[in-house]
Amino acid sequence: MKKPYRRAALALLAGVALPLSVSAQTVASGDASTTEGATAATVTTQLPRGVRPSHYDVTVTPDAAAMTFTGTAAITVEVAEATRTITLNAADLTIAKAALTKGGRKAGTPTVALDENAQTATFTFAKAIAPGTYVLSIDYAGKINTQAYGFFALDYKAADGSAKRALFTQFENSDARRFMPSWDEPFWKATFSLKTVVPTEQVAVGNLPVEGRKDLGGGKTLVTFGTSPKMSTYLLFFGLGDFERKTKMAGATEVGVLTKKGDIAQADYALDASADLLPWMNDYFGETYPLPKLDHIAAPGRSQFFSAMENWGGIFYFENAMLLDPKIASNALRQRIFTVVAHEMAHQWFGDLVTMSWWDDLWLNEGFASWMESRATARFHPEWHPELTALGSREKAMGQDAYATTHPVIHHIATVEEASQAFDSITYDKGEAVIRMLEAFAGSDKWQAGVQAYMHRYKHSNTVTDDLWREIDKTSGKPISQIAHDFTLQPGIPLVKVSASCAGGKTTLALEQGEFTRDRADKQPLSWRVPVSAAAVGGAKAETLLQGKGVLTLAACGPVVVNAGQSGYYRVLYDAKTFAGLAKGIAAVQPVDQLGILNDAVALGYAGTQPMADMLDLVKNLPADASPQVMERAAKVIDDLAEFAKGNAGRKAALARFASARLLPVLNALGWEPKADEQATAGDLRATLIETLGDLGEPSVVAEARRRFADPAAIDPSVKVAVLTAVAKNADAATWDKLHAMAQEETSAQVRTTLYSLLGKAGDTALADKALALSLTDEPGATTSPVIVSAVGAVHPEQAFDFVLAHYDAVMSRVDSSGATRYVGRLSQTSADPAMPAKLDAYASAHLASGSRRPVDEAIAKIADRVKVGAMRLPEVDTWLAKQGY
Ligand SMILES: [Zn+2]
Repeated sequence: MKKPYRRAALALLAGVALPLSVSAQTVASGDASTTEGATAATVTTQLPRGVRPSHYDVTVTPDAAAMTFTGTAAITVEVAEATRTITLNAADLTIAKAALTKGGRKAGTPTVALDENAQTATFTFAKAIAPGTYVLSIDYAGKINTQAYGFFALDYKAADGSAKRALFTQFENSDARRFMPSWDEPFWKATFSLKTVVPTEQVAVGNLPVEGRKDLGGGKTLVTFGTSPKMSTYLLFFGLGDFERKTKMAGATEVGVLTKKGDIAQADYALDASADLLPWMNDYFGETYPLPKLDHIAAPGRSQFFSAMENWGGIFYFENAMLLDPKIASNALRQRIFTVVAHEMAHQWFGDLVTMSWWDDLWLNEGFASWMESRATARFHPEWHPELTALGSREKAMGQDAYATTHPVIHHIATVEEASQAFDSITYDKGEAVIRMLEAFAGSDKWQAGVQAYMHRYKHSNTVTDDLWREIDKTSGKPISQIAHDFTLQPGIPLVKVSASCAGGKTTLALEQGEFTRDRADKQPLSWRVPVSAAAVGGAKAETLLQGKGVLTLAACGPVVVNAGQSGYYRVLYDAKTFAGLAKGIAAVQPVDQLGILNDAVALGYAGTQPMADMLDLVKNLPADASPQVMERAAKVIDDLAEFAKGNAGRKAALARFASARLLPVLNALGWEPKADEQATAGDLRATLIETLGDLGEPSVVAEARRRFADPAAIDPSVKVAVLTAVAKNADAATWDKLHAMAQEETSAQVRTTLYSLLGKAGDTALADKALALSLTDEPGATTSPVIVSAVGAVHPEQAFDFVLAHYDAVMSRVDSSGATRYVGRLSQTSADPAMPAKLDAYASAHLASGSRRPVDEAIAKIADRVKVGAMRLPEVDTWLAKQGY
């Protein structure tokens, strides 16, 4: 699964998380249960283990108009020991009848008890069923949801203005049970045969190709999909609507894209990317993709929880993650589509072919899929510099991992809600960063050999993380397991303190491992084995596995970079003299290290470990022609500081003057239109500078954005969203009305949602109120409403929070259930109002179960930190700005 795209979430202070209980709380029932230790060679299930499914034969008949469906399921089960009951998962389903047969003969008619809280159905028989193979047949009915979980509908307007409804499914982590009674846990792999009764003129799509169509009369057709290989329930998929499909062969596999009628050309980019990626991934993993086809399905709308889902053979995307709409086509959008496609395709192996036994090891899915995005980009689009992009995700992970509220990469999951909350930056981004570090330490060929051995050994089955480490230990001959355990079983970030001295043309680095935290200055550091590399600028790399204290010698003197190449998951604190040399000579440092040094200086500055002046010196000393991605980060550093200056007009004005002096010449050199010979990422920098300088109110940028807004159709697609954002942030009532009219008239679902979100970005609080009121009307559409409220929250967190509480049921009915518990916390987390934590706490007590508080506690920690940084750290910024004459 891919998380929703949030440009704003690249903010310096990424989310923080509460530790989940890692105690060995037993959640399973039955004697085979265990949750002792996430890496034990045992698996967790919550359902009893005595009866297991081997095959599902499911027929579903949707009634899209009534938003209901009926189904029949014939589940082949193996009964291992005599039992009077069979328990499986069911949620929001009614069961009309059930029967058990053996070899076609009746073997029992059970009574059925549904447990709404446990989301189970228990079938009880008059006498015990003997061990053997049976078929459990169930007639049932369920509902079609308006948000993206279980079986759901997305409504949209066709190009001719007619109202349309498309149907899809979304089951990760635990919503297949809303579609069919099932053993809805990743461990219970089985084969699936899906049939569906649909309107004859509509297109039905599933995991496997359509195998048969039978006209039932009355405009209905019975569609039969092929039988799947063994897989987990969360990977089953079904979609239905007025779709177009286009295909291409990649080796023996048919790669396809499906869109709403009329949009298929926008999917060409994803289709080509997928056809390129499939043979390359077959080679990388050493196992050929096992299904006859691989479809990518684009759906209108949004979710607060995810943007794409790796259903085996039928990957689901929201349009903004898959369609290249020519109206807003930019390099950033191409890159986004390519990386999401690569992420979901990597899951066809990591997740679908080999699946974690239980959600404790979710990172095996998500860390690997995230890492594969970069690997695939390095292979097909080196011009996007994935080695720099990777530092952005490492920064997000560290933004969460530096607080007491973090958790280890592998941590115990006890409930469905905890599983939903595990889809966070630690699982995705720290997972990715740790894999990158271990790959560099093992050597990429040996790493790949280990991954291939793992795929080969465990295909079509379930694993825990240590199954992977065992293979890589063997192929690499290095202590990968030990380092991996240090970084995945304990939380937090190593801090490598460096003290350099030069003698006889050699540099000696004295190294000491501590721990980087944002909120526990006196914390006793944990202990890690840290692969540390270092190089003098322009010199060769030296490496060591640091444990406690160590020494590295370099065969040169001059500025020295530690974590050279930036593959390590740790921060670096240089002695003052060494840092001053780096800051002065930053122009000569490789872009990836410029970015790493800047990121560390920012984090250590906010934490109070390093002077705030250090990061500002770096920003000031970067050359004007620095890599676009490095310059984007510099812009973000200033923009984040300006966030802290809210309510302090003098500070904000000084930062705006610094931003203009530092960034405006860069934008002016780039120009407002793409140039034929510019770097691939230059357009992203152009967009970022327009947004940042627009946000800071730079008069020439705001004026130019407004001038271009007079004729929106003439704005280059690559800067369109940035220009409109600058206009929206500085909007007056007339401008807001014009944006609103544009949103109403827009026919592209993707652009329409973007325009509605811009209405929430106005700096003017009265306009923010108008946007909030608009979000509760039927106009924007159910899945766009929460996007508007979130946009207001990013600018006016207190106002958005108060609004949501005043209209709680109305707002939350528009947020998908999987994202609901984190929605309010995220909305408020950029607040620096000291009253906000108590308000959030009261909200959590009133509305959330005690096990679901984590996102709110994250937000509270973040707000407390903002208050502290504002008071303790920002005065140093004032001093630096004054000294520089701003
Ligand atoms: Zn994923």
